[in-house]
Amino acid sequence: MKITILTTFPEMFTPLHTSMLGRAEKAGILEIREVDIRAYSKNKHHNTDDAPFGGGAGMVMLAQPIVDAIRDVQGGKKVKRIYLSPRGETLTQKKAEQLAKEDELILLCGHYEGVDQRALDLCIDEEISIGDFVLTGGEIPAMAVADCLCRMVPGVLPEESCYTEESHWDGLLEYPQYSRPEEWHGRKVPAVLLSGHHGNVADWRKKESYKRTMLRRPDMFAKFDETTLTTKHDRKVLAEAKAEFAAMQAEADNKAE
Ligand code: SAM
Repeated sequence: MKITILTTFPEMFTPLHTSMLGRAEKAGILEIREVDIRAYSKNKHHNTDDAPFGGGAGMVMLAQPIVDAIRDVQGGKKVKRIYLSPRGETLTQKKAEQLAKEDELILLCGHYEGVDQRALDLCIDEEISIGDFVLTGGEIPAMAVADCLCRMVPGVLPEESCYTEESHWDGLLEYPQYSRPEEWHGRKVPAVLLSGHHGNVADWRKKESYKRTMLRRPDMFAKFDETTLTTKHDRKVLAEAKAEFAAMQAEADNKAE
């Protein structure tokens, strides 16, 4: 996958070239590059922003350098062009999964009050938000989007299960994780995880995942499609998780009284 990030702050992107993504880049699995929008500015001082027509606080990023940069990067190819924006569609794991199938993407980072609408009308296919809050610029959102997509590109993580068995993949939150030592400051790792019984470990993890989602994200659990549980055993695990969760809630209510 190739991702080109258009920004006026290319120096911000070191994290994207570090750790697993950095290794995948070195291995030629990913190509992530930053392009400085300022290099395309045709005005005397290489400005990339100006005051908004109609007045008001802040500056607006100029259309000309952005459109020229996008056209240059695209070079006549059909490439999906995304503007990171708090007004966009909120990124979800499902959306990220779709985008990760693209061979190439262009990500445009806004700054200040945002980008002149004419550049967006001419050259942007989609607007993506990373959540219902506002950041200073699109650089951190672009890194979040790029990281989320790139880890699903085959070869970036050691196995597909590294991203399919995680929170949000199947509409649930992940179960708790433990590592060495078996006991730490009087806290023991759940015995089932030390049992070596793969079936019991899988059932415990699934139940913990259900219970955690019921507790922390009831909105998400309400959307969980139980018809995807095709075996009697899977339905039994869910029923047990619901019963355990109800007992936990009752205990918490009793304590609160
Ligand atoms: N005036 C804009 C508005 O109210 O919608 C906000 C501009 S924001 C201060 C500057 C830039 O940060 C935006 O152009 C966008 O690129 C980026 N940005 C801020 N919050 C974001 C979010 N939640 N998701 C994606 N990009 C965001």
